[in-house]
Amino acid sequence: MGSSNRFEGAFWGIDVGGSYTKIGLIADDRFRLVDTIPTGEDCHPVDLLEEVSRLILANDPMPAGVGLGTAGLIDRSAGGVIRFSPNLPLWNGVNAGAILRDLLKVPVVVDNDCNVFAIGALNSRLIPSEGLWLFVTLGTGIGGTIINQGSIVYGTGYSGEFGHMTVQEGGIPCPCGSDGCWERYAGKQSLEWYYKRLNGIQASPREISNLASLGNVQACEAFREYGRWVGIGLANLANCFSPMGFFMGGGLSATLNHFEPSAQQEYKRRCKHGWNVTLLENSSVSGAFGAASMASRQC
Ligand SMILES: [Zn+2]
Repeated sequence: MGSSNRFEGAFWGIDVGGSYTKIGLIADDRFRLVDTIPTGEDCHPVDLLEEVSRLILANDPMPAGVGLGTAGLIDRSAGGVIRFSPNLPLWNGVNAGAILRDLLKVPVVVDNDCNVFAIGALNSRLIPSEGLWLFVTLGTGIGGTIINQGSIVYGTGYSGEFGHMTVQEGGIPCPCGSDGCWERYAGKQSLEWYYKRLNGIQASPREISNLASLGNVQACEAFREYGRWVGIGLANLANCFSPMGFFMGGGLSATLNHFEPSAQQEYKRRCKHGWNVTLLENSSVSGAFGAASMASRQC
């Protein structure tokens, strides 16, 4: 790193994903991505966190604080222990917060990727700081965040696991140990399955979306089925929380126009709340930006 990349006392964000780890910072009210490091299933947490720490200190010898976001169950009360990591098995049980604090000697906060994304959206004023809102990410799994008056509601620590509410007793088995979880019906694989069931063709959500845009009957039907399950889950959440509305993120949210009609129809049949769903655009740096925002709010 050249001297032009030097920063002083910045808030840093680390987004540890299943394929890449992204590191960036907020400087002059702007987010800058500094580096991307490939990660994979065999990525050892200590090795990665040492590499990330070296990178941060080379750019900013005295960071003000560091935020880290990753998928899974994060024990914040224990200082940032990753209790369960769906994509990075070697990270299970690792106290990522303690390791980073040790390496960097600065305040560190750790949270799950969905909460971190929501904190970034709060920071950018995309999610209002008044009222109760629910944030739902539709991707391989379904993530969730409960935001009340601009703060995340954690319960005893692990709230927002919307993807694992049961929508079908005795339904499709879930890696979590349960069956009939919402994310087995409204996750990425479900859309692919609804399409494949109609014509035997394996296609990605993007391909199915392109076909639906062209009016392909089977692609449209797959989205109708997918939307019904999205609507069932959102109605359950609305009945429980009575939110002002929903924000939606994750890869599949980009196809909302295809599944919104059937989702809305199912939703209105199952709850008395208005349909208020707003898309939050994902970018490749949303996670790292959210993590840096979290550091700026909490460190
Ligand atoms: Zn589950």
